[in-house]
Amino acid sequence: MVTANDTVHGRIGRARTELTTAQVAVGLAFVAALGFALLFVQEPTLHDSMHNFRHAAGITCH
Ligand SMILES: [Zn+2]
Repeated sequence: MVTANDTVHGRIGRARTELTTAQVAVGLAFVAALGFALLFVQEPTLHDSMHNFRHAAGITCH
């Protein structure tokens, strides 16, 4: 009985560890995807702001 309980607890503990690892991996992937998305979203904005700054500074670029 005690051994079976220990085995069940061990399995639950192992499952929790694997779930946590999977959640961490998913979280990291989500953060990486979010970072890439923000990079792609902000890049034109950054380019436009630099573009406007260049025109405001009197530098013609086109
Ligand atoms: Zn321009």
